[in-house]
This record gives sequence, C-alpha cells and structure tokens, in this order.
Amino acid sequence: MQTFGIILAAGSGIRMGTPKAFLSLNGKPMLWYSLQAFEKASQISKIIVVSQKGDMEAVQNLCRSSQMTKFHSVVPGGKERQDSVREGLKALPPSAKIIAVHDSARPLISSTLIDLLVKEAKGKKAVVPAIKVNDTIKQTAEQQIIKTLDRRALYQAQTPQVFQLDFFKQAVDKAFNENFYGTDCSQVMEHAGFLVYILAGDPKNLKITTPDDLLLAEFLLRTSMANSPMTDEAQVMMSPE
Ligand code: C5P
Repeated sequence: MQTFGIILAAGSGIRMGTPKAFLSLNGKPMLWYSLQAFEKASQISKIIVVSQKGDMEAVQNLCRSSQMTKFHSVVPGGKERQDSVREGLKALPPSAKIIAVHDSARPLISSTLIDLLVKEAKGKKAVVPAIKVNDTIKQTAEQQIIKTLDRRALYQAQTPQVFQLDFFKQAVDKAFNENFYGTDCSQVMEHAGFLVYILAGDPKNLKITTPDDLLLAEFLLRTSMANSPMTDEAQVMMSPE
C-alpha cells in the first residue's frame, strides 16, 4: 500500500507579493523544507510536487541536488488550489492508496507529524491536523460583529491532510461536477458527506502568508535547531553550503 505526498507549490503568493515556493527561508527555498520532511517520513513512499509551470525545472533541480530518493514527479498546477490538487491526483500511479496533501507554504512541518497522520488515516478515511483557537472569533458583516463564536469548539486546520485515495477521489469528482470549491481538501471531503477526523496539529506548523510570517518561521527554525536534539534535516540546514 503506497502513500504519496502531494506538495502544493503552484500558488501565486498574492499576499506575499511573490510566488512563495522559492522564497528564501534561512538560505533555502521554502519548498525545500517540506520536501525534506516528506523524504524523512517513514510512512511516505513517494512525493509529487505541483508547481507553477515555469518552476518545474527548478523543482526537479532542487530534488536532484537534495539527493531525494522519494521524488516521483512534478506537475503543473491549476488556477485554484483545488485545481492544483486535481493535477496532483492525475499523476498518481495505481499503487497509491493513501495521499497526504501538503501546502509548501507550511515549511515547518515535521516528519513525525506526517507519520502520525498517515498511521491514523489507515484506519479512518480522512485525518487532518488541527490546533485549538486561542483568540475569540467574531463573525462580521460590513465591519460589524454579528456573532461571537464559541471558541471551545473551534480549531484551525493545517496540512498535510491525509486521505484514503478512493474516497478522496469520489469527493473531488463530486466537487468538480458541482463546481464546488473549498479552501482546503477537508472541506471537499466534508461536502461529500465523509467524516473527517482531527489529530493534534503543531502550532509551529504555521502557514507563511505575509512577510511577517516569514520572519517568524526563520526565527522558529533557528531556535528549534538551537534548542532541540538535532534532527537530520536540521543538521542539513545548518551545514555550510
Ligand atoms: O493561496 P494559499 O495560501 O491558500 O495556498 C496554499 C497552498 O496551495 C500553497 O502552498 C500554494 O502554493 C498552493 N496553491 C497551489 N495552486 C494554486 C493555489 C495555491 O498549489 N492555484
């Protein structure tokens, strides 16, 4: 039973002002960190990258120079994130049974969390990492608060989101036929009526959206390397070019 990582890197990075996948994060392209985590995750068999057309060669070069053994292919993305997911699905071989869809915009993902999610998804159809919301969330309209949501029930969904492929394909086909777009893959599964389970995410697995997020991620990378027992990937990051 093969598990494929699908790493999404085809976004245009509007809020960052530039495509994010090749932005430098402590001297390495942002995409590199997710590639390393998936390469190191023992539950992952192969990795597909979905990138902008003009970046495909750079992705191949990055995987080659990082001596990745699990790199399967790079495919061009689509207009919306969900379209890019569909492009990634098309590249899967029949041996793929589980997929872990990850945003390259979350470079601080750990191989430990990837492995936990995949193990959990083997018994369930869909598993998503999520963290509790700390702030009080207000629903608004026209700059006015119309409702205060009960934060005890609120979670922030992260990636990778892991699915048994047969069920996920059904959900993606239904969404496509109905022209339904969700903001993450979980929403596509929910729309199709599948139960999606959450597993404790990692607060450090933040999504890089603005230049401030990039600074925070660089800080977290530096401090986690300084404070925690060295992981292989941290050692690679710290080694001179
Ligand atoms: O746009 P957003 O920040 O939600 O993007 C989340 C992830 O989806 C990013 O890693 C981005 O590269 C990817 N994406 C994609 N194709 C798109 C839009 C976003 O692969 N058309």
